[in-house]
Amino acid sequence: TPAPVIRARSHGSDWANSLPGGGTVEIRGVTKAYGDLVVLEDVDLVIPSGSVTAIIGPSGSGKSTLLRSINHLERVDRGYIAIDRELIGYRREGDTLYELKEREVLERRTDVGMVFQNFNLFPHLTVLQNITEAPIKVRGLSRGDAERLALDLLARVGLADKAYAYPRQLSGGQQQRVAIARTLALKPKVLLFDEPTSALDPELVGEVLDVIKELAQSGITLIIVTHEIGFAREVADRIVFMEQGRVVETGSPEQVLNDPQHRRTADFIAKVL
Ligand code: ADP
Ligand code: MG
Repeated sequence: TPAPVIRARSHGSDWANSLPGGGTVEIRGVTKAYGDLVVLEDVDLVIPSGSVTAIIGPSGSGKSTLLRSINHLERVDRGYIAIDRELIGYRREGDTLYELKEREVLERRTDVGMVFQNFNLFPHLTVLQNITEAPIKVRGLSRGDAERLALDLLARVGLADKAYAYPRQLSGGQQQRVAIARTLALKPKVLLFDEPTSALDPELVGEVLDVIKELAQSGITLIIVTHEIGFAREVADRIVFMEQGRVVETGSPEQVLNDPQHRRTADFIAKVL
């Protein structure tokens, strides 16, 4: 297994101490359909601040839709999602809820970082520019401060020497580590990973999982959709098994993976192990 890449200054560092804290995610009775297709049905989950949740389940079970809903990218039809008691998509004034305007959505979204399967780096920007863009535009950091932050984060993901490279010059594993650094630069309270290693060649999976393992110690709330069952067993506080838009069961890794309560969970685990 590759060496952990951000152990050098891991938790306990100034950076970890400067995290905003919070990051409790409350998902209550969430239902969503695309036309006739119900993709989330009565999903109820409370995800404590600083915890690590792995979501597993077959393709099409609604995992990505759930993450996108937490990241203000989808509107749910029924139920609600709140982060630290602030509703996604709405602002409360007294007893009245107002839909957030686009600008307010963008502001709130900085609390939630999302890392995608395909990295989604800007191909025409250097690694450094990829990371500094949002802190400058969204957080109003000076270029100098944003670059210092970016170089610090690059060192933590083991890519200090790649600041001036372009994404196409990097391996998939390196690109995904840049994508993680880019997300961290906004100091999210909640970090969502949607199958972060599924687009990688097998030999590059470990370096990305090692970075995520380090983050698991950092106090950020992590929600990770993954087919890497061994990884989920090792880092997750809780595993959520979804099928056909529903949460079938949740529990500790030992409970869900060693002693599943539902036949469908057992069948799925047998298939992916
Ligand atoms: P998973 O991530 O578990 O594979 P998804 O959340 O991507 O599942 O998808 C759940 C279901 O919703 C799938 O049947 C998918 O085809 C459907 N779906 C996802 N996004 C859309 C969309 N924008 N329009 C219509 N159907 C969608
Ligand atoms: Mg998906």
